[in-house]
Amino acid sequence: MSQKNPHLPSCIPVPISEDVLKELVEKAKDWAIMHGAAMRSKACFSEDSLNFAPFVLLPSTFPSKEFRRAVEVQIILNELVHRVAHNREFLTTTLKETIQVDEFTGNLFKIYETVQDEGVTQRVALGLLRSDYMIHSEYANHIKQVEINTIASSFGGIATSLPRFHRYVLQELGCFEHIQNLPENNALAGLCQGMLEAWKIYGDPKAVILFIVEDVTYNICDQRLHEFKIRELNPHVKVIRRTLTQVGDNGSLNSNNELIIDGLVVSVIYFRAGYEPGHYPSKKEWDARLLMERSQAIKSPSIQYHLAGTKKVQQALAKSGILELFLTEAKKIESVRDIFTGLYGLDFDEFGDQAVQMALNEPDRFVLKPQREGGGNNFYGSEVREVMLQMKDSRERTAWILMERILPPLSTGYIVRPAGSNPPPLCEMVSELGIFGVIIGDSEKILVNKQVGHMLRTKVSTANEGGVAAGLGALDSPYLID
Ligand code: ADP
Ligand code: MG
Repeated sequence: MSQKNPHLPSCIPVPISEDVLKELVEKAKDWAIMHGAAMRSKACFSEDSLNFAPFVLLPSTFPSKEFRRAVEVQIILNELVHRVAHNREFLTTTLKETIQVDEFTGNLFKIYETVQDEGVTQRVALGLLRSDYMIHSEYANHIKQVEINTIASSFGGIATSLPRFHRYVLQELGCFEHIQNLPENNALAGLCQGMLEAWKIYGDPKAVILFIVEDVTYNICDQRLHEFKIRELNPHVKVIRRTLTQVGDNGSLNSNNELIIDGLVVSVIYFRAGYEPGHYPSKKEWDARLLMERSQAIKSPSIQYHLAGTKKVQQALAKSGILELFLTEAKKIESVRDIFTGLYGLDFDEFGDQAVQMALNEPDRFVLKPQREGGGNNFYGSEVREVMLQMKDSRERTAWILMERILPPLSTGYIVRPAGSNPPPLCEMVSELGIFGVIIGDSEKILVNKQVGHMLRTKVSTANEGGVAAGLGALDSPYLID
């Protein structure tokens, strides 16, 4: 695909001379570690040490108009997700086929129905969202949405220090006038203020905030930074970390449906795990999810927000006439529709059959996606055709969506990884922008609705996916150009 894509200019001329580059990379690595742009090593894991997180040495250029478009549409997307999450009929019809063939989504849906029937006890919903975009060179370099994350939207913590990191790098290179093109980023504070706002609404000064975490956390900085920020913003609020298994072992509800863990009342639950089947090794973890869902604790996400973030829902929202069910102003509808790219369902109907045919005829134009989060689950290129051929006559296909492949412009720069060579090689890259949003409200009213910051991650142009935690992407920050 890379030959077809146009190029964005780099923020300063590259290559950088070898001597300058080597010294700069050494300093930049230490800056990253010492400011928490770091992760635990997967290769030699230790709770006592950190590696720097992979980074892009120079900030990648991003058209300022498209950056602003992404920022401005966020509060409309927040509102959209919030309304979708509160519409039982829409979620039920949209996911009807999917939950019969996709066991994981089916299990989430069972919990959803249980608590809907029993009556939801949390007072308000807290959405900590991240909408992801790439520039589509086939649409006049407009941004197109990759997906919206309603669970475990990560990198708000580390991304907040990336503009400072790139400011330092540019200063080292003597490029002082370039610094004004790095937009401020307050994602961390924004997300933590959202959690604290929910904590306040819960109304128990002794109650804690619970982070649901994986058994082993590699992306530790991006969770501890939140924890430390919460203490900084309100010194009286304690954060505890537990796995789903630990909640299963030690969690209970008191007579007021408050969640109690190890004697502590939980006011807010922030999920950094629970989005993939592997996080639920046994029934105990599913029971833990149901227990939390039944509780008064304000969950980010609550189960209906989790379901509203599925890829099937994303695809359903792109069908004509659907946005109108949730948004009233034509201008809002237009700005959301503008960021959608082709999204197709694979139901057994005329439209689904057409989509199957499109994928078989031109597999390179599409990405095939199941109902999964966390990276590494999609199919690209010739695999789209192979997988489609295998499943086109089985019910399984209804749990997948077909999405038009976004072709982002290329940029040239240096990706620096732990144990990589110094100097790093110059490479062709593509970037993906994430915009963070916070929303709090109930089915009647919205109390808080904000855009709070951004993150940029960049990968070599030949990689299909660029998850930083998954090891393919690198942290970056946007360098805005006209
Ligand atoms: P996940 O929930 O696993 O993060 P995504 O939909 O975000 O799933 O896809 C993972 C990655 O795959 C994205 O971050 C992006 O790099 C790539 N990708 C997804 N959809 C597209 C698309 N339509 N065009 C090009 N790349 C895509
Ligand atoms: Mg994603």
